[in-house]
Amino acid sequence: MSAYQPLLVRYRDFLPMDAETPILSLGEGSTPLVHAPNLAKQIGVAELWLKCESMNPTGSFKDRGMVLAVAKAKQAGAKCIMCASTGNTSSSAAAYARRAGLTAIVALPAGNVSMSKMAQTLMYGAKLLPVDGNFDAAMRLVREITDKLPIALVNSANPIRLEGQTTGAYEIVDDLGFVPDGVCLPIGNAGNLPAYWTGFKRYQEAGKSKGLPRMLGFEAEGCNAIMRGVPIENPETIATAIRVGNPVSWKKAEAARDESKGIIDCVSDPEILAMWRDLANVEGVFCEPASAAGVAGLKKMVAAGRSDKNGKYVAILTGHGLKDADNAKKAVGEVPAAVKAEFGAVRGWLESHL
Ligand SMILES: *Cc1c(COP(=O)(O)O)cnc(C)c1O
Repeated sequence: MSAYQPLLVRYRDFLPMDAETPILSLGEGSTPLVHAPNLAKQIGVAELWLKCESMNPTGSFKDRGMVLAVAKAKQAGAKCIMCASTGNTSSSAAAYARRAGLTAIVALPAGNVSMSKMAQTLMYGAKLLPVDGNFDAAMRLVREITDKLPIALVNSANPIRLEGQTTGAYEIVDDLGFVPDGVCLPIGNAGNLPAYWTGFKRYQEAGKSKGLPRMLGFEAEGCNAIMRGVPIENPETIATAIRVGNPVSWKKAEAARDESKGIIDCVSDPEILAMWRDLANVEGVFCEPASAAGVAGLKKMVAAGRSDKNGKYVAILTGHGLKDADNAKKAVGEVPAAVKAEFGAVRGWLESHL
């Protein structure tokens, strides 16, 4: 028998479940915590682990909150769920809606979502609503619709989603057997950072762990609203998953930063892209560009003396590399030309390539 336990079973005592909540599952949670000694050395920290949230069923951490949000919506009798998304929330909503027998409507900023994410969402049979505007415009629209019509909101503004996301923190403590000094992650709508923080606090209150990490969150430079203290009208970054100019959970993220004596800062697109390549090249872990922002930020903070180089860190890799095949293709450049399928030709090729 498989040792896997559905997320809603494994952490039932820490989630707002009751006897009637359906146990929905596609195999979410229990994601690998990969030790990354090479990258730790390169960044200049004592220890680094990568929490590979890419290994969730739809390829991102969004599944942790979505499984609970959709289970609760189903329990409440909803027939239809809706969200605005930069891509990953939509795939997750679409998959769990299908599993639960509900309809998902997803509003996407037209022309601003990776092809892979769009295709994935459509494969799950969601109703796609491309909105003529950016994520923030799509979000405003979805809030209004779910306020006025009998459709359940499953964006991270739905507090149930963040409850589900606290489970990432429990897993880190359960796997490591201790609380890391710092947890770094990218910031888009800023829900994941406070969700992890809540998780660490709750585990400690329950007597399951001792101590708390510093929360280190990183926006992309072209949409560093929290860092600058003003919404960004035209957010820009290659990392589409965090291209958000007016984060939904802004205040919660600031509170978590302050309580944890943490940091919210930003990284440039070149820094994100360089770390994205390093994660794959140095440790064999392929995430999407947004996920690399957290690790790039850690590197920047350590170099600036703002984060302890003797610390033990966990980086949350929020989504899978194949989620953004378009940018991966651009990053690697030309695909090599074909070689004749003949020993002599390949020997020549080896001589010039090794
Ligand atoms: C949603 C998402 C983020 C941003 O998370 P927030 O909770 O919105 O801050 C980062 N990376 C990936 C891959 C995502 O899908």
